[in-house]
Amino acid sequence: MCFYHAYTHRCGHTEMVFQQLCPHGQMYQQKCPRGQEGKILTTVKVEYACANCLIKVCRFLNSFKI
Ligand SMILES: [Zn+2]
Ligand SMILES: [Zn+2]
Repeated sequence: MCFYHAYTHRCGHTEMVFQQLCPHGQMYQQKCPRGQEGKILTTVKVEYACANCLIKVCRFLNSFKI
């Protein structure tokens, strides 16, 4: 399993940010396949919504600008 940092956003979503390859990944010079949960080194609390939620909010606000 490769190593990740988990960013816990205010909206409740968690974003996994790739940090480091595991020995298996280093051998093949690529990350382990998706679906295999990575090892979380640190969990960081983020005081704002994740990018996806921010985009949704922006679209919502833009829909008022006609
Ligand atoms: Zn790995
Ligand atoms: Zn979110």
